[in-house]
This record gives sequence, C-alpha cells and structure tokens, in this order.
Amino acid sequence: MSSRDDAAARGVPGYAHLAELALDLSCTWHQETDWIWRALDRRLWELTHNPWAVLQAASLERLRTFLSNAENAQQLQALIEARHRQATHHAASPLGSDSDPFTIAYFSMEFMLSEALPIYSGGLGNVAGDQLKAASDFHLPVVGIGLLYQRGYFRQTLDAQGRQQALYPYNDPGQLPISPVRTADGEWLRIEVSLPGYAIWLQVWEARVGNTKLYLLDSNDIANYPAYRGITSELYGGDEEMRLRQEMLLGIGGWQLLERLGITPQVCHLNEGHAALVVLERARARMERTGEPFEVAFAITRAGNLFTTHTAVEAGFDRFSPNLIVRYLEAYAEQRLGIGIEALLALGRSNPQDAGERFNMAYLACRGCHAVNAVSLLHEQVSREIFRPLFARWPTSEVPIGHVTNGVHMPTWASPAAEALWTHFCGQPHWLAGEGELSSAMAKVPAARLWQLRKTSSAQLVSYARELLARQVAVSGGSAELTERARHVLDPHALTLGFARRFATYKRPNLLLHDPERLARLLADPVRPVQLLVAGKAHPADREGQAMIQQWVAFSRRDDVRGRVIFLADYDMRLTQELVRGVDVWINTPRRPWEACGTSGMKILVNGGLNLSELDGWWVEAYRPEVGWALGDEQEHGDDPGWDVTQALALYDLLEQAIVPTFFERDEQGIPQAWVERMRASMSSLTPRFSVSRTLRDYYQRYYRPAAEAYRQRAAGAGELGREIAAWHHAIEQAWPALRFGASHVDTHAGGHRFQTWLHLGGLTPEDVRVELYADAGADQPSACHEMHAVPGATPDACEFVVEIEANRPAEAYTIRVRPWHAAVALPLEEPRVLWQR
Ligand SMILES: *Cc1c(COP(=O)(O)O)cnc(C)c1O
Repeated sequence: MSSRDDAAARGVPGYAHLAELALDLSCTWHQETDWIWRALDRRLWELTHNPWAVLQAASLERLRTFLSNAENAQQLQALIEARHRQATHHAASPLGSDSDPFTIAYFSMEFMLSEALPIYSGGLGNVAGDQLKAASDFHLPVVGIGLLYQRGYFRQTLDAQGRQQALYPYNDPGQLPISPVRTADGEWLRIEVSLPGYAIWLQVWEARVGNTKLYLLDSNDIANYPAYRGITSELYGGDEEMRLRQEMLLGIGGWQLLERLGITPQVCHLNEGHAALVVLERARARMERTGEPFEVAFAITRAGNLFTTHTAVEAGFDRFSPNLIVRYLEAYAEQRLGIGIEALLALGRSNPQDAGERFNMAYLACRGCHAVNAVSLLHEQVSREIFRPLFARWPTSEVPIGHVTNGVHMPTWASPAAEALWTHFCGQPHWLAGEGELSSAMAKVPAARLWQLRKTSSAQLVSYARELLARQVAVSGGSAELTERARHVLDPHALTLGFARRFATYKRPNLLLHDPERLARLLADPVRPVQLLVAGKAHPADREGQAMIQQWVAFSRRDDVRGRVIFLADYDMRLTQELVRGVDVWINTPRRPWEACGTSGMKILVNGGLNLSELDGWWVEAYRPEVGWALGDEQEHGDDPGWDVTQALALYDLLEQAIVPTFFERDEQGIPQAWVERMRASMSSLTPRFSVSRTLRDYYQRYYRPAAEAYRQRAAGAGELGREIAAWHHAIEQAWPALRFGASHVDTHAGGHRFQTWLHLGGLTPEDVRVELYADAGADQPSACHEMHAVPGATPDACEFVVEIEANRPAEAYTIRVRPWHAAVALPLEEPRVLWQR
C-alpha cells in the first residue's frame, strides 16, 4: 500500500505531471528532474534515487506546497512540454533512415533499468536494460517483453557472523514505476495461456523508458489457480517446473500480448534462450492468420528471429525433462501447431531420435532463428564449441555463430561530474556520436581536470560507503559504538579498489584472499594507503559462494585492515552506480573462458576508473598496456588450483609493483601524471567502444536490418518464398539418405589440381546442393574452401562436379563435401546437413 491515499493525490492540481515524470525511467540517466524529487523529500531522494518512491511517500500537504509554488509549476510545465515535443517529434534515428521502417520485439527474462523496478539479477538484465535505453536514445522502435516479479531476485543482508540472509520483500505493483495496460474501454488487458488443468490469466503492465516501452506480464491475478498465481513471483527461484512455466508465459504469452496490442514486429530478439518458445508462438500466430501449415509459417517467421546466447558453459542452458515438456506442451503441439509432441521435442534435442535427451531451450532457439550471436569475440569461439552438437560434421570455425560485444549505457553509469566533463569537451548529445569524435575530444582534456574528477569521485564514494556501512552494521545488531566507527572507515586519499559481482565460483571472488597476510600488508601501508570495497550476492542455493562472502566479512574485521576493507551488502543497481563512479581500479578475476563478456568493468570507463582484469570476455578485446592491467596468459586452465595460486601471486605483484607506485607517484601539483595518462587512454579509446551505442549500432547493422529484410522476403505476397523454402527443406530431408559420392579423380599438373567427382543426387537437382573442396587449416595456412561446378549434362540420378585450383598444398589435404544449398536460407544454421567424401 502506498503511504497515502493515491486518489486524493490525483486530485491535487499538477500531480498528474509529477507522476508522468516519475514514471519515466529515463530519469535514471538524465538529471533534469532531480531537483523535483530533492525538493519533495531530500532524505529519501538521497537514500534511494527513486523518483517514484519519493512521490509515493510525499504527503498531500507537501505536494500541494510544492505545486502551488509558481516557479515550480512553471518549470514543471516546461519539462512536460519538452517531453511531449520529444515524444511526438519523430526524430530521424542516428542509425540512418530505413525506407521501410521495422519494429523489434526484445524478449528477456530480466531487465535492469532502475533500482525502483527490481526485476533483475545481474549481467543479463543489465544488457537488456541498457539496450532498451539505447533504443530510446536512438529512436529505434524497440518493444521490450518481460515478466513482473512480485518478489524479484532476493535481497541480501548479513547477520552478525557475516552470513548471508536472503530476503524476498514483496513489491506492491502500485508502488513500482509502472502502469496497468488497459483495453480501449478501460478494462485491464488480460492474456490467457493454457497450462495443465487450468488456463492462466496474465495482467499486463507497462514501463516507460524514454521513447521505448517495456511490457511486463504478471500472473498474480486473483482469478488464477493458486499454484499458478505465483509463477511470476521470483526471478530464478523455484524448480525446473517453475522455470518452464515462467518461460511459457514469457515466450507464448509475450507474443500473444504483442498480437493483442496490435504490434507487429518484423524482428524478434531473444536475449538468452529463456524466451525460446516465442519462435513457436510466432509461427502459430501466423498459421492462424494465414491458414499455412506449421512448416511454412515457421520457415517464414524464423527469418525475423535473432538469438543471443550469453553463457560460456553448457550447464548454463535450461534443459527440461521430456516428461515435463510432454505434460505442458503436448496439447499445444498437437492442437495449436499441428505437429505432434515428438516433432516439438526434436527441436530441442541435438539427436532428435534420442528419446532420453532433455529438451534444451538454447537448441530450440537456434532452430527457430535466422542468426545466432555470442556476446564477445572470445565467447563466439567458446559458443561454437558448445553448439557443435547441432552442427555435428562441421568444422568448429564454420559453426554459424557471430558476435556483438556487449556495451553499457554510459549516461546511466556516469557520475554527474563525469557527465559534465564529457559534455564540456564533447558537446551534446555526445553518446550518439561516433567513436572517433569522442576519442579526439577526450585527448584534449587537461590532466588537472581529469585528476580533479577522480578526487571528487573518491570523496563521494567514501561518504556514501560510510553511511551505507553504518546502516548495515546497525541492522545486523552492531552496537552504537560499532555503528559510529563505520562512519569513519575509508580514506578519500587512498587508492580505492572495487570488487563487486555475483559470488559464483567461476568468478573467483576470493582470489585476492589467497594470501591474507600479503593483502593486509598492501592495504595497511601508512604511506601509500590502499582500500578495498567488496560487494556481491551468492545464489541462496550456493553454499560455496556464501562461504566466500563470510571469508571476506571475517577478513574485514581484522584489526590490521580495519577501515581499509569493507563488505557492502545487497549489491544492486544503486550500489553499482556509486561504486563504478568512485573506484580507481576495478578488479575482475573470472576463470577464463567462463565470463562470456562481463559488463561491470565497462561501467567505470566513463568515470575514469581503470580495469585490472583476467584476459577473458570483453577485456581480451579491450586490453592494451596503456589502458589498464591484465591477468592471465590467454590460455584456459580449467579449475586447476595450481593455476589459481599462480594468478593470485600475479595479482599481488601487479598491485604492489605497478598499480600502487603509479598511483602515488605525484608531480609538484600533486598529480600522478602516468596514472592520469592511463585514465585518458582508457576513457578516450574504450568508452566509445564499450558503449551500448556501439552495441546497438552493431545489432542494427549486422542483425536487425538483415533479419527484417529476410522476413519480409519470405512473407511477401502469400508467403511464396516461405513455401518454396519449406518445400526445399522437405526435399532435402527426403533425398539426403540416398545421397552418395560416385567415382572421383584428381589430376595434378603444372602447378594446379583438377578435382572431379560424381555425385548421386537421390532426386535432388544440382542447384539444391553445393559441392565444395575443403582443406583444414595447416600450421601456416588458413582453411580453404572452393566451390565445385556442375558439368552440364547431369542425368536425373547423377551429376559430375569439377574444380581447378592452384596446387599450394598437396591434393591429399583436400576433401570433397556436399551440403544443401538455397540462396535465401541461412546456412548451415537452418539446414546443418553435410556429407563428406571421406
Ligand atoms: C553490472 C552489474 C552486473 C554485471 O556484472 P559482471 O561483473 O559483468 O557480471 C551484475 N550485477 C549488478 C548489480 C550490476 O550492476
């Protein structure tokens, strides 16, 4: 319940405008409205930075006083007018104009947009939230689809022994910055999804993110069967069955919602495999509209689907027991898709014949999309390995997975001081500018100015962390004396290290604790003081992660490091913002290659912080000695404890021998020139590259536009091309078992090879296939692939293929292969068959 009668508040003249501003999550990245919330309730504003919370808590009297002030009313009016101008004025997108504009639906299990809307856990939600914000900046028509969790992800407190306590406070939707979606006649819009025994009604909420909208589905409707009512209660809570229910709501319910709203996206982006069922529902909706069979509707709609994979380990995929899939989706497969449950199950298996194989959502996503991408260059290579089972006889290098390296929404993570600096030197709106312009402008900033930014930021973080720690100590039962002591920890002049992330084993959150004595010596140096801020949650089922938190808390209580290392509870978006703005060095120690990309280290770039990270994820692409520090030898060592020791020692060495001395080597003005030059290099060269503006541009050019185009071609007219492709798939499937190589021959003469082979086509035409001469990469040669050409005069059964090539490797290095071929199909993604001669 809100703290006062909302209906009464709505009666206050001008309140509607305040509500409109507070409901727009774009206030998480610009400061235009901050003065309002500060004026309404300074204390609550500083504590939460949550306009909606401030507005809900303000008394009627306070609202009336604020709104009756003429100057306030005038400024408010100006803000509202500017907003409406912005919304109605269809600015051309800096991504260029499309003669044929298209809409993108973005599906994600979590979105991290604001601490006021706790429907996220970490990195995945971060990527989704920042991409929606960038879509707003770019005026790109993106619609987000997600779930509204009543309890979200767990909140963390620590008890007196430093043990993590997981709390699930209930979020009253009335107190969240969202509004219900209603039909034209004012009723709640409701979506219905069939589950065993009962259908479920989903309410729909809308969150505004500047020019973009996010729709959230919510099962907490009193009309629902009790066991189903709580499906959208917790993010990543519950068991396998609960996860499947959530994924059905997201994928199937999510697409239905778009249909109901009359939104017809050409492109559908699956942020991770959780939403994979949408590929089925999108096809089903088309079947209903056109009367096409599933195969045709699927061939057409998949052209517009993109799947982004985020995990670097196979165990990261959702895999469901076949029985569960049968229980939940048999009726759907038979009655709605008309394909039978076995055909549906086959879409989620690497071996469709294996009845024991679990149903893998990432496989379904691959089979239902027109493109698949990983989230960094290294992750692309790792993903090609993980998805190999779907491309069994293909060389890893040809597994059809590309990449778009993630980026972060700089305006969200920049401190006001950093934002002012960028604006001063780069103008507005700088984040939409190209990389080159930003880099050259940053190169001109005086060293003193950069150093001033760092000093101001450190001081702000120190005062924030003191206040937060004092509260935390009081909450966990600390005495008044301990609480008071917390108000004096840390030192604004020290070198500040930050380490905050999920406490998962692969992130090695206790690598720094390998030699506690050595770490203590580093921190306790009276001449060159160093301090460390640690934060992070461990999943409530992860005992090892929780033990590591406890180790950190215990370490922070040692007398010799008191006040130099603190553990801050409840790592969330607000705490991230404070940390990334204030730290000098951000430390990241994942086990390569398990960090698919990582984004937290990108958030410090705009603020002039520097990274010290394992050469994994994005840092492999970003690292150069001028911009930060690297750990690791670019090799994989699994979870070898010996290697962990080596890395821990390297980490101490870097800190003691490189980082601390550089930070404390000052000139006459007290400026550490070498440090500031690193800041400049990192800010100017990395900030633009790891900005989500760059990411969105990449998605748009490499994936969204081609997908929209492919979908339109297949759907054009009465879907003729789609029908043709479905028929082609069918023909390939029928003929493939009969396909075989006949006699072949190679002539080597005068520096060339001439390869010739007969192929029995099993009823296919030479145009249905492509015959290739392939050689693996050698020590000093890349792999080679040459198309062989059909010799005219093929009989209905067999065809001869030839090619002449330069003899720069021996003939034995080559193998002939045949693969299905169709110019309008994404290959080998959509048809992964291939036959090798040997
Ligand atoms: C940025 C962020 C993450 C992602 O961090 P990584 O270290 O890149 O995994 C997770 N949680 C929160 C709260 C964040 O702000």
